[in-house]
Amino acid sequence: MATGERIPATLIPGDGIGPEVTKATVDVLDALGAPFEWETQAAGMAAVDATGDPLPQSTLDSIRRNKLALKGPLTTPVGGGFRSVNVRLREEFKLYANLRPAKTIIPGRYENIDIVLVRENIEGLYVAHEYFVPVGDDPRAVAVSTGVNTREGCRRIARYAFDYAVKNGRKKVTIVHKANVLKALTGIFLEAARDVAKEYAGRVEVDDRIVDACAMQLVLNPWQFDMLLCTNLFGDILSDQLAGLIGGLGMAPGANIGDQAAIFEAVHGSAPDIAGKGVANPVSLLLAAAMMLDHVGKQDLGNRIRNGIQATLLEHNVRTRDLGGTASTTEFTSALIKRL
Ligand code: NAD
Repeated sequence: MATGERIPATLIPGDGIGPEVTKATVDVLDALGAPFEWETQAAGMAAVDATGDPLPQSTLDSIRRNKLALKGPLTTPVGGGFRSVNVRLREEFKLYANLRPAKTIIPGRYENIDIVLVRENIEGLYVAHEYFVPVGDDPRAVAVSTGVNTREGCRRIARYAFDYAVKNGRKKVTIVHKANVLKALTGIFLEAARDVAKEYAGRVEVDDRIVDACAMQLVLNPWQFDMLLCTNLFGDILSDQLAGLIGGLGMAPGANIGDQAAIFEAVHGSAPDIAGKGVANPVSLLLAAAMMLDHVGKQDLGNRIRNGIQATLLEHNVRTRDLGGTASTTEFTSALIKRL
């Protein structure tokens, strides 16, 4: 990309705390002179309210055109209601890799955590192909969910993880599965990942863990892990656990990557309990924006955001409530911009 060139990107403010943390993030990116030219689009409850559709065609068209988006969290109704817009976006653009790095900035219960989780993003149980079977006069007497993992999909995500390890100087990939019980669904994942790992022998170490044991070991001794390679549902759960090791959901970024597009977001949801109060921690989405800058070849700007966040939290001691501080979202953002 030539210096000074603008990069069109879709911006989805999202629901709950989404508009608060996306505004903070865009303000920081503007202050930094980041090259993004935003096209603001709606999705989730905000889009239902505005258009009656949780995923309007104009939002899809914008992402398809730009191949790049920054997205706030989207509320998904529990139980009934519309299908997860996040899942639909991942399917629509075949965003098969969900990259979720967790790195300690503020030492808390744990220090020096540095784990990268790679989650398969479009297969498995999380895709939620579900239905009810009626029995007698109960139309929802039996619930059925089907998970589908393909060898091709498992190999594709394994290759992504091992390539990432090589490019980023990571030493070990741990394959997370439940192949002792879900012998087909997660057995194929383990088998395909082990197979792909052979091509990286001598460059990247490989081992594997059953998901429940992995969850326990992440609490007892997280430092034994370097990268985790997970199926979709296990990756969803373990990435929140990783966030817990580094100070909570306010500190955890994520990237949904495919061949046709990439969507950057925080790991957290719309946090309805604190929405509108001006206290949300914008760091997760800011770190996701730094990943977005890396993605477009602007690592220098990405590093400035990461270094600025670290300095604001550690040197200036400006922190939001979830980190034990008193700063509001805008106070933290102003302090970061001043530091930059
Ligand atoms: P959540 O992540 O929204 O919140 C869990 C807890 O973490 C809450 O106590 C919240 O206040 C806190 N928290 C989260 N982000 C924070 C931040 N930036 N700063 C300070 N505290 C923060 O999870 P939930 O309550 O289970 O889900 C709420 C909604 O979000 C649901 O509708 C769910 O489907 C949706 N969701 C969306 C995404 C996404 O869009 N990628 C991800 C997860 C959940």
